[in-house]
Amino acid sequence: MHLSPQLFSRMPELAEVEWFRKRWEPGIGHKIVEAKAHSRKYVFRGTDGESLRRNLTGQKPLRSKRSGKQMLFEFSGDNWLGIHLGMTGKTHIESPNFQPGKHDHLVLGQRDRSMVFTDPRQLGQVRFHHGKGEPDWWKDRPPEINSRNFDRKFFDEFLDRHSKAPIKAALLMQNGFPGIGNWMADEILWRAKVLPSKRIRKLSPRERSAIFRATKWVVRRSLETLGQDFSDPPKNWLIHQKWKRGGICPIHRTPLKHATVAGRTTAWCSACQH
Ligand SMILES: [Zn+2]
Repeated sequence: MHLSPQLFSRMPELAEVEWFRKRWEPGIGHKIVEAKAHSRKYVFRGTDGESLRRNLTGQKPLRSKRSGKQMLFEFSGDNWLGIHLGMTGKTHIESPNFQPGKHDHLVLGQRDRSMVFTDPRQLGQVRFHHGKGEPDWWKDRPPEINSRNFDRKFFDEFLDRHSKAPIKAALLMQNGFPGIGNWMADEILWRAKVLPSKRIRKLSPRERSAIFRATKWVVRRSLETLGQDFSDPPKNWLIHQKWKRGGICPIHRTPLKHATVAGRTTAWCSACQH
């Protein structure tokens, strides 16, 4: 496993969340002997952490899934645990007698290991639901980009509803492009050869097609590389240059441009993108 400091310090987007979802896999199917929660902390906002602790003790995690940047863990006894990593959240596995530190807000202790959620900045969120069927906050989620339901119709209708927005802003909207964040949006627009600040209504049909194809491609390749083992995305991706001082376009070898678009630091190549 390779964790470059740059990859590890950036905000998790869909492929990083997929990687963190798998960190808890060793605990699936094993009983929670003791659950510990810092239930008054901000990460539990809107959730009864005590009820979570009581309900999960004695139960087993059965399966998990990811949707956009959210994770859902289903437990026996009709219990559901949602985790959003925010900026600094991490799921990891520790020893069975793990003693939680200040930032280890949730520890699900099993006989052979502990499933731990750590979040120093607490912009992540832990949610809990007890009841038959998936929680309300998980229903009505937009289609996953790597699913058939994310098709040209969905994509075009979403863009049409935001025709005045810069394309980068639309790509960051989680109800249209679930799981896309700052680095993936820049990667997509660089590949589609479209300026991040370009208004949606100014996009040509050809540019729209290119953005749709690049979105599917970047998501698929990210899940195949970093979603699997957190190895870096391929060397010729924009992400490796994006935050570097003197970062260059992987194609033209000329310096990238930087500006704030949609409130986020954005990088692009003025030779590639128009
Ligand atoms: Zn270029």
